Amino acid sequence: VKQPLIRIWDCHTHLSGFPGDTPEARMAALVELADRMGIERFVTFMGWPFDTDPSPDELVRQNDQVLQALAHWHDRALGFAYVNPRHEQASLAEIDRCVRDGPMVGIKLWVAVRASDPRLDPIVERAAELSALIFQHTWYKATGNLPGESTGADLAVLAHRHPRAQFLCGHTGGDWELGLPAVRERPNVAVETGGSDPTSGMIEMCVRELGAERIVFGSDTSGRSLATQLGKVQGARISEADRGLILGGNLRRLVAPILAKKGFAP
Ligand SMILES: [Zn+2]
Repeated sequence: VKQPLIRIWDCHTHLSGFPGDTPEARMAALVELADRMGIERFVTFMGWPFDTDPSPDELVRQNDQVLQALAHWHDRALGFAYVNPRHEQASLAEIDRCVRDGPMVGIKLWVAVRASDPRLDPIVERAAELSALIFQHTWYKATGNLPGESTGADLAVLAHRHPRAQFLCGHTGGDWELGLPAVRERPNVAVETGGSDPTSGMIEMCVRELGAERIVFGSDTSGRSLATQLGKVQGARISEADRGLILGGNLRRLVAPILAKKGFAP
């Protein structure tokens, strides 16, 4: 059976966990994996080692690792700048340096401060001015979240305050049956598929609850295996048109404005 070619873009990868002492070496390993899995382009953010509450100096160091990794791979990869709302000025400076004046196209918020916190406002405003995507990790942990770890509901509060900003809800809330209803009424939030074990019915529920246009494939490799994360979407009982949107079409549409500002077509 001849299938139409789906151009796969992955919105969530990390250099952490790949072999190599330099960003170049780790990037080579990541590109090799992407080649093997048929990934046309991927987004990467945060360097190594992972730091849940990075200092201003550590933000610069880790964003530099990503900039160095991207340097020879602009045709294959995009970057998001890691920021920490506990350090407002440093985060704004990193957005200016890496996104406004550099090649990056989004920002990454992890677990230092919950998304509903007003300390995120100046950071989100700056990102929105630049049409940068905002990736916010979210999870509903049965064992309780970290003090600064967001749920989907926290992200919904932030997205309501910033209707012109475009958010990616990392991991679809971890528990997607809680994450999906939390963000459903916020049209400026798309959910990211990575980071839980592949479970039959998850992607189908995302499509049913949000529509395929608000679902973006992400693997979270090397934290998760790219093959199993891809399998979630490839094995879902959805239309080929919806699969194409989830695996790449939506991310291309969402980064088109900022790429256009930088003079590129996605
Ligand atoms: Zn991740």
